[in-house]
Amino acid sequence: MRGYDVAVVGGGIVGLALADAWLARHPGTRVVVLDKEERLAAHASGRNSGVLHAGFYYAPDSLKAQLTRSGNQMLREFCAERGVDVRETGKVVVTTSPQQLPALEELYARGQANGVPLEMVDEAGLRQLEPLARTHERALWSPSTAVADPVAVVEALAQRVRERGGEVRLGTPVIDAGPGWVRTPYQRIAVGHMINAAGLYADRVAHWFGVGEEYRMLPFKGLYWYASWPSGRLKRHVYPVPDPRNPFLGVHLTVTVDGRAKVGPTAIPSLWREDYGGVGGFDALEAMDVARLYPRFLRSPYHDVPGLVRTEMPKYSRRYLVTRASALVPSIRPADFREKGRIGVRAQLLHVPTGRLEMDFVVRPGERSTHVLNAVSPAWTSSLAMAQWICDSTLTA
Ligand SMILES: Cc1cc2nc3c(=O)[nH]c(=O)nc-3n(C[C@H](O)[C@H](O)[C@H](O)COP(=O)(O)OP(=O)(O)OC[C@H]3O[C@@H](n4cnc5c(N)ncnc54)[C@H](O)[C@@H]3O)c2cc1C
Repeated sequence: MRGYDVAVVGGGIVGLALADAWLARHPGTRVVVLDKEERLAAHASGRNSGVLHAGFYYAPDSLKAQLTRSGNQMLREFCAERGVDVRETGKVVVTTSPQQLPALEELYARGQANGVPLEMVDEAGLRQLEPLARTHERALWSPSTAVADPVAVVEALAQRVRERGGEVRLGTPVIDAGPGWVRTPYQRIAVGHMINAAGLYADRVAHWFGVGEEYRMLPFKGLYWYASWPSGRLKRHVYPVPDPRNPFLGVHLTVTVDGRAKVGPTAIPSLWREDYGGVGGFDALEAMDVARLYPRFLRSPYHDVPGLVRTEMPKYSRRYLVTRASALVPSIRPADFREKGRIGVRAQLLHVPTGRLEMDFVVRPGERSTHVLNAVSPAWTSSLAMAQWICDSTLTA
């Protein structure tokens, strides 16, 4: 059969953004996005908080800093073009003890360095922005943080890829690939260039090309609980000051696009990748593989892994999780949060020789291929900017 100029493995937001950016630059070329699932947004891109991050957390020399502020802007423009709702919630970052004030100042300084609009407010200022939240002395206000429905965004992006002439083939797992070809259970397809945007399986696809062999994916599970409150009671996303030793932001409260409050996500270590509850997606070989990584990870000098395990594992308990979140919003009660949200799993890359979790996006070239290896949060926000950056820096017609 006739081949494709570009085949993208993975039709999450990153793969679709890459197909979209490529087609915008090279109209008329043959592009296919292959996803193993029968429906769009089945994994992280449809199972996240939908927060359009502003880009102030990240070290100024990182890809996350470079791509999140512009990604936020591009995603807003995309949503406006496609009629996808964005709710202008903004976000407050609050302290739970006076000892966190220096870290809050550091976040403010990072925001300044990254060119992100931010304001430091006092307790009275916080009460005006979000009456339910509490802080010690000061809080950060980020007006450009917002929220959208992640599934609606992915569906709209797939539609734009199709309108630009790309094919989006669902129910099509890629089971092997090499320079110039990919194989599905149905056929071997000739391709000019392959883009690996396989999310939780991106390490495996990269290894087929001998790329990123020092890396393995370590899954972390994100649980959510929805409040039974009326829409609009919580106005802003409320986040804690994150622990800089770990790549996660800590338990927070967010508002959905239709004004519902939810608590989560957790970052509970998981033994298999598509661990969405029960034994669905369980793979014994995968679990053994992940378990083998833990002794190295537990001794990591880069992270407080025992502390992470100690604080995350109890968050399987709804009561414990909501009680932790009440440090940010004291009036919340476990009884208010009884509706489970859709679980998401973070595709977090581990550098095996050092036991270090990669904090930044990792993109690697391979023979006739490009591999997006650590599309962790906020890659949903950054996806359109990331795709442009990859097209500029590594992909040529
Ligand atoms: C709980 C949680 C909350 C988050 N909150 C936010 C947030 O608020 N804001 C934000 O910006 N980011 C957030 N993120 C991060 C964001 O969701 C991800 O960075 C982003 O969705 C990554 O997109 P992706 O396309 O790489 O991955 P995915 O959406 O996982 O897409 C990968 C696709 O590859 C497919 N695939 C895998 N292997 C194969 C194969 N062999 N053949 C064919 N197809 C294959 C899968 O079916 C999947 O559809 C969150 C993540 C989680 C888990």
